Amino acid sequence: MLAYRHAFHAGNHADVLKHLVLVQVLRYMGQKDKPYRLIDTHAGAGGYSLRSPESQKRGEYERGIARLWDRKDLPPAVADYVKIVRGFNVGGELQHYPGSPEFEHMLLRPQDELRLFELHPTDFRILSSHFGQDKHTQVTQADGFASLKGQVPPVSRRAAVLMDPSYELASDYDHTVKAVRDALKRFAEGVYMVWYPQVSRRESLQLPRQLKACAPKSWLHVSMTVQQPDSEGFGLTGSGMFVYNPPYTLAGTLREVMPWLTQTLAQFDGASFVVEQHAV
Ligand code: SAM
Repeated sequence: MLAYRHAFHAGNHADVLKHLVLVQVLRYMGQKDKPYRLIDTHAGAGGYSLRSPESQKRGEYERGIARLWDRKDLPPAVADYVKIVRGFNVGGELQHYPGSPEFEHMLLRPQDELRLFELHPTDFRILSSHFGQDKHTQVTQADGFASLKGQVPPVSRRAAVLMDPSYELASDYDHTVKAVRDALKRFAEGVYMVWYPQVSRRESLQLPRQLKACAPKSWLHVSMTVQQPDSEGFGLTGSGMFVYNPPYTLAGTLREVMPWLTQTLAQFDGASFVVEQHAV
């Protein structure tokens, strides 16, 4: 039984990094008229109330999106991301945080298609109630790792994938690597975005190296560490994303943005970031 609920974490520092990258990639995908398929293998509930008991319990968004909300000095890519979040908050007060499906649905064009996978029954129900009637969107309660096989390549031969597991199960790390490797074999030209957590467990420390080894063509890696482990050595200290076949503009954009973002979201003096790229 899955226990992880993204409602407890919506809008935290990891969501900021993930959705900032997602917006940049989808803006780029939208520049060519040709339709594309967007696959979100771990979609969550779609969107989140920041007033809910789950969100309020730890107030993680206060050290994430809330730190950007009233800033007047946002770098352009961050301003673009924050503007989308503002679009989901009528009246200017931060009350709602869009999940990846809301960002995706907003940025897709009429010719594109969205495929959402979510396993948790409650989050699947909420997700379906938001997007189940949309004719461009298919919502499926199924294992996103396994389902990716049937999604690439699409007929249009253009696709972007967001793989954002909860890593609640130790096997999620291995499943991520296998799903990425398999998808790249089926469709080497796809744009794949893979999120990972920085936590004190062996699998998490090994994952970036394994994800680098999967990439036959070009890849980009961005990570941001904003806090220290708690007194027992646990906690999400930061996160990272791999983008396979990234837009050629992405590394430059992230090199501009990450110093500002890391400083703004830092919870200790040693906050740091990495932007690295391999291009063929
Ligand atoms: N992508 C979402 C966003 O950015 O708003 C957050 C997703 S959350 C980190 C991970 C989600 O994956 C959870 O809602 C969890 O229930 C779901 N999940 C866990 N294992 C799964 C699997 N094997 N296939 C599909 N969904 C899964």
